[in-house]
Amino acid sequence: MADGVARWGRRAVLRRAALLGGGAALGVAGTTQTAWIADRRLPLGGGPASATLGSRYQQVGGGVEVVWGVHTGAPLVALTFDDGPQPHWTPMVLDTLAEHRVPATFFLVGERARRHAALVRDRLAGHEVGNHSWAHHDLARMDARTAYDDLRRSHEAITAATGTAPRLLRPPWGHLGGAVLHAAARLDYRLVLWTLQMVEGEYPHDPAGHARRIVADVRPGTILLGHDVGPERRLVALRGLPDMISGLRARGYTFVTVSDLLRRAAVPGAAR
Ligand SMILES: [Zn+2]
Repeated sequence: MADGVARWGRRAVLRRAALLGGGAALGVAGTTQTAWIADRRLPLGGGPASATLGSRYQQVGGGVEVVWGVHTGAPLVALTFDDGPQPHWTPMVLDTLAEHRVPATFFLVGERARRHAALVRDRLAGHEVGNHSWAHHDLARMDARTAYDDLRRSHEAITAATGTAPRLLRPPWGHLGGAVLHAAARLDYRLVLWTLQMVEGEYPHDPAGHARRIVADVRPGTILLGHDVGPERRLVALRGLPDMISGLRARGYTFVTVSDLLRRAAVPGAAR
């Protein structure tokens, strides 16, 4: 009887290993590994963590670069705005940037770009656009095929709305999985995160104080994250934008788009 239980137990372990898609349960060490995997529900093939698609030849391009900022001695800063376009604040941000002749990079949500194309059409000269997903869902929870479909759809909507095909991708919340890397490589994107972000919650009703804080925190090569969409508290950063611009210029900073920042840093001696 004891023998029978032991045999049944071993068969169950093997069956579980087969369900998980691997033969790793063979032997004592293998059983331990299977338990580790099962506890965390990590899929062995596919799923959001996987940066591979099946076993056939993969058309993924050469690779993908992930950028947070740039190492440079030159006082360059890239201002970025996520989640637009929406009627509430996007026109105001564009007006402020135009008034001060500041280029910025807008990471657009594809579905919003399609719905509010009139807000950005003919207003993005000198600016750059990037892809911020189709509907601001968490790409890091999608498998490679779904993430690709999401980004492709957004890519097409942004291209149609702005007349420019985005070359940069910023995943919502900066969430990255292997599947996002795979999809980004297929679309030949550079992945752009950020080095510094607005801290609106720390400066309620104090646009000037918030602007001073950001001006003090920027370093050469900073990619600065802001939003032109969101809850009312975020207005503090947008109301302080003129102060932020003049404060950074007073420190000798030049505003550039993200691609311009990366280009200048890539030329030896040009931005160091
Ligand atoms: Zn976002």
